[in-house]
Amino acid sequence: MVLGDLGQRLSSALRQLSKETVINEKVFDDTLGKICRALLEADVNIRLVKRLRENVKQAINLEEIAVGLNKRQLILQVVIKELIRLIDFEVKPWEPVKNKCNIVMFVGLQGSGKTTTCTKYAYYYMKHGWKTALVCADTFRAGAFDQLQQNASKVRIPFYGSYTESDPVVVAMNGVEIFRKDKFELIIVDTSGRHAQEESLFEEMLEISNSIKPDNIIFVIDASIGQACELHAQAFKSKVDIGSIIVTKLDGHAKGGGALSAIATTKSPIIFIGTGEYFDDFEVFKTKPFIDKLLG
Ligand code: GDP
Repeated sequence: MVLGDLGQRLSSALRQLSKETVINEKVFDDTLGKICRALLEADVNIRLVKRLRENVKQAINLEEIAVGLNKRQLILQVVIKELIRLIDFEVKPWEPVKNKCNIVMFVGLQGSGKTTTCTKYAYYYMKHGWKTALVCADTFRAGAFDQLQQNASKVRIPFYGSYTESDPVVVAMNGVEIFRKDKFELIIVDTSGRHAQEESLFEEMLEISNSIKPDNIIFVIDASIGQACELHAQAFKSKVDIGSIIVTKLDGHAKGGGALSAIATTKSPIIFIGTGEYFDDFEVFKTKPFIDKLLG
């Protein structure tokens, strides 16, 4: 199940609720307590959990619920609504425009799955009829060029990179220019992964962004890194204008709560999720089905 443990624990709290014969204040509090503990243990930020708890409490007044109305159903509905509110800001995510040159830049921590995700994203649009290309602007990590080139050739997507040019800004600009002239509709630029403390790499990311002027910046976040997600997301958000988020590794044993908190912090919409190492392991993100799946 997606988000493994968290999903199981949330659905177990709600299953328990459906077994109760009478839904009184105590049962309601117990259920809410279990839900909040499950979220905290899955690394969702305590501030968000508190807010969720208060909102659910405020929305439900057991005494006032008319006889005949299903209290369990009502509690479930409110919990689902509040979980959705954690990650859905009702902002329409950016989407590329057909028959135009769209430039998308990928940023994220090293190891988050950024290079794999660039390829998945490119492959997804190629399969949907877009003229797509990949640019490797990571001149920092040895092997980045080969990795993206190999990925690109596996999915038969044109690729640009340089073994000799060490300035990522130059590589990014050259790649974008070449594909723009060739009327590519979607040019995807992979940048160097970094650690949140690496100021120089952040500056590089900013320089690339200022020179290629991407239509969208996608932040790739690994669901498995827990609480650290939120800090990293804040660090990235403070430097560049993150337009959307892709959460990776949701197939594993990720607790996932850290990613949820990161999304709540950046207030950027999730557009896709990564669910495996293959290029097809990629799904369009939809909030309601995601939360439904989480609740089992
Ligand atoms: P980068 O350093 O951020 O560019 O990360 P890579 O793209 O090199 O990915 C790091 C590792 O994560 C690789 O072994 C990928 O196969 C793996 N990976 C990427 N996305 C996913 C995913 O959605 N699920 C799983 N299980 N592994 C992933």
